[in-house]
Amino acid sequence: MDLLYRSTRDDSVSVTASQAILKGLSADGGLFVPESIPTLEISLEALSKMSYTEVAYEVMKLFLTDFTEQELKDCITKAYDSKFDTDEITTLVKADGAYYLELFHGSTIAFKDMALSILPHLLTTSAKKNNVKNDIVILTATSGDTGKAALAGFADVKGTKIIVFYPKNGVSPIQEKQMITQKGDNTYVVAINGNFDDAQTGVKKIFGDKELEIVMDQAGYQFSSANSINIGRLVPQIVYYVYAYSRLLAHEELKSGEKINAVVPTGNFGNILAAFYAKNMGLPIDKLICASNDNKVLYDFFITGTYDRNREFMLTSSPSMDILISSNLERLIYRIAGSSADKNNEMMNALKTAGKYDITDDMKQHLTDFYGNYAKEEETASTIKQLYEDTNYIIDTHTAVAACVYKKYKAETGDTTKSVIASTASPFKFTRSVMVAINSKYESMSDFELVDELSKISGVIVPDAIEEIRIAPVLHNTVCEVNEMCSTIKEILKIK
Ligand SMILES: *Cc1c(COP(=O)(O)O)cnc(C)c1O
Repeated sequence: MDLLYRSTRDDSVSVTASQAILKGLSADGGLFVPESIPTLEISLEALSKMSYTEVAYEVMKLFLTDFTEQELKDCITKAYDSKFDTDEITTLVKADGAYYLELFHGSTIAFKDMALSILPHLLTTSAKKNNVKNDIVILTATSGDTGKAALAGFADVKGTKIIVFYPKNGVSPIQEKQMITQKGDNTYVVAINGNFDDAQTGVKKIFGDKELEIVMDQAGYQFSSANSINIGRLVPQIVYYVYAYSRLLAHEELKSGEKINAVVPTGNFGNILAAFYAKNMGLPIDKLICASNDNKVLYDFFITGTYDRNREFMLTSSPSMDILISSNLERLIYRIAGSSADKNNEMMNALKTAGKYDITDDMKQHLTDFYGNYAKEEETASTIKQLYEDTNYIIDTHTAVAACVYKKYKAETGDTTKSVIASTASPFKFTRSVMVAINSKYESMSDFELVDELSKISGVIVPDAIEEIRIAPVLHNTVCEVNEMCSTIKEILKIK
């Protein structure tokens, strides 16, 4: 029997995993969720002897049940290969009494690679399984990180093209360089004269353009999205929590069955939801510690039971967590509402119209697994500095938010349960914030001087992803106005 997926907004929807991956979002605007969360079939001991790709298969086969063994294994081996700079794919570093799960060893040195390196293969396999003949055109608007990770994932994947729009003056110099030097015959990067919201709104409009859809279909194309609400991104993220546990067991850091806490720096609530799914599969996880930056909507939500986005949007040194609407939280809301699309709809409508909603006391009872807190900018910086001075280990700003919240959690609760902190980006990706946190004397240095200095003081060699862009030629220089996005796409695809 296949595990089917339902929409969080319409009880009558029921699709296979491959259909959910192809669609991304349900037509009613809801997110796809598995009917039930499967239980790990294999013992933790057996998992502790497996490689990353083997663990990935054991976990993903339970969710993607309409994929054949061969199909799924092909996707996994194509994704987790030498693009990662370690055979282990993710590594655990013990520092200051916690285990840092380094999820940044992929091609763009941020954790988005963990899912975006496999999504293209899941998507093309899903297309084949559902007799889709068109080439898939991925459209993405990015404020920096997702764009590059999606480009790297889809580059030269047969049957796909990817077009990324970014705000011309709205990304960091390193992020821009990473994108405009992207190789691959099927990759297109376009700067727009506008901000991220303009890019995002433009892309949404194009997705909803029925006439364009017909013209595209005639030319043999259809759009899809690499957005983080796709279950093809969520499921691969469950794997590394299971893998982390299996490594701790293999290294005798844990007794079998001993519980761990998972600490996750959170934006869209995707990464921590994956940890929640891992727990519900039977992985011995106790607390799910949700770390926010100054955009602390989730912290307030866990304290009060009210989700309220009506507040000032703060720009912080952990930009990938600067979010006021955590899209993936809807999957948790739906679940604690007793898998009721009606109740979930009520809250999502309130979010849309009033910018906020309250959950019931009964729903709140189901949140006891979670602990939320946040780190202010100064706290994030001092966490980086202190960890470096105490242990010589340097973490990025996003990971530092989590490390800081973990410290607050321990101080508040006295809980000594061993804890895994999701380390979501390499410090080389946010070099300036990281180095200035360590010492303000670094403020005057250029970006690449800082890269070399970071390598020197940490003893970590500069990742290829950064080395490459020092000298890589610029391959993309298209710039367009916001109202030219659609015509730019037509030019790229050579359609009238
Ligand atoms: C995207 C991102 C996050 C937030 O992850 P969510 O799944 O959106 O909660 C945290 N850190 C980094 C470096 C990211 O790129």
